[in-house]
Amino acid sequence: MTRENRRPGRHFLQIPGPTPVPERILAAMSRQILDHRGLEFGVLGRRVLSGIKGLFKTQSHVIIYPASGSGAWEASLTNTLSPGDKVLMCETGQFAVLWEAMARRLGLETEVIPTDWRIAADANLIEKKLKADTGHKIKAVCVVHNETSTGCLTRLDEVRKALDAAKHPALLMVDAISSLGAADLRHDEWGIDVTVAGSQKGMMMPPGLSFTAISAKAIEASKAAQLRKSYFAWDEMLALNATGYFPYTPATGLLYGLAEAIDLINDEGLENVFARHQRLAEATRRAVQAWGLEIQCRDPKYYSPAVTTVVVPEGHNADAYRKIVLDNFNMSLGTGLNKIAGKAFRIAHLGDTNELTVLGALTGVEMGFELAGIPHKKGGVAAAMSYIAETANAVKAAAA
Ligand SMILES: *Cc1c(COP(=O)(O)O)cnc(C)c1O
Repeated sequence: MTRENRRPGRHFLQIPGPTPVPERILAAMSRQILDHRGLEFGVLGRRVLSGIKGLFKTQSHVIIYPASGSGAWEASLTNTLSPGDKVLMCETGQFAVLWEAMARRLGLETEVIPTDWRIAADANLIEKKLKADTGHKIKAVCVVHNETSTGCLTRLDEVRKALDAAKHPALLMVDAISSLGAADLRHDEWGIDVTVAGSQKGMMMPPGLSFTAISAKAIEASKAAQLRKSYFAWDEMLALNATGYFPYTPATGLLYGLAEAIDLINDEGLENVFARHQRLAEATRRAVQAWGLEIQCRDPKYYSPAVTTVVVPEGHNADAYRKIVLDNFNMSLGTGLNKIAGKAFRIAHLGDTNELTVLGALTGVEMGFELAGIPHKKGGVAAAMSYIAETANAVKAAAA
């Protein structure tokens, strides 16, 4: 970067992943390379493989791939299913669309429950579909936990109840790529068979790792699954992971970062991390409501703690607006994806964020409206400030 275009201060990276990386994680990764077959690596391997389980609230195994979340998506399908198997999916937004397209490319048959992209997956509809499937043709139900494109969070406890109510044996697969470390996730209690997550969102790490929690039922299914896989095969991974090692060169630098990320989350307390996300999300929504703008998620029951998608008024382009915010205030906001491209933008309150980062972001958003000529009421930031100040004592009391 030349001296002319140096932008002093911090870039505000307010997109729902990748998210900013805390100094402690950056420092932890800044280490010399180690022998991935040596004794020292085994200590690190066992530490992260055991530590990551707590974040999924699982006693079963979590696989760590050197791949972004999409790699773990592919592994979740190829390790448990066979060509022509039917999977039930809910089109909650762009990430559900991409997972469904991948399933079809891999040779699976998909049945899709559509939505208007303003709501999470509907457990009642899932139950109906499963009850109608008396021949048990559906082998897996795949849902996105936090739909990062729309800011809607699916109630996984309700989805579990739907499978139970239908007495259906399908596997339950969950994309928790943008919810791990942001929203409560109970892999074991909710009877999830495969939960997929990534490093660069709520985990506050650089992109490059994915995590897959797998149940005993999923491991059983993997023994009969006929879809092709080699690099992503679970069996070799499970065999080597048993002693803390990997079948191929692991991303050692990222694993140092992961060990630190797990410590950071545990130091704060997992439930406190969730509460912080909830509070900053509510502050953001109060700002949006005070501006008189619409939140993409149309039912408060499904509001995302990680990201708020904001609809811009008719006749205005959300991407032109985002460019104005970037040019003037050095802040990246999330773009609208697929059918809401240009119509909405996203404010992330995900990962290593606090009161003032969110208020700083909202200030840039509000000033951006002014500069872009987007009609809005004043006072969004003030509404968020009031909420944050009002709840400050409760946060301190809870921590004490
Ligand atoms: C980011 C994201 C993905 C894609 O993950 P990559 O790490 O980019 O491969 C999939 N699903 C959801 C919900 C996401 O937020």
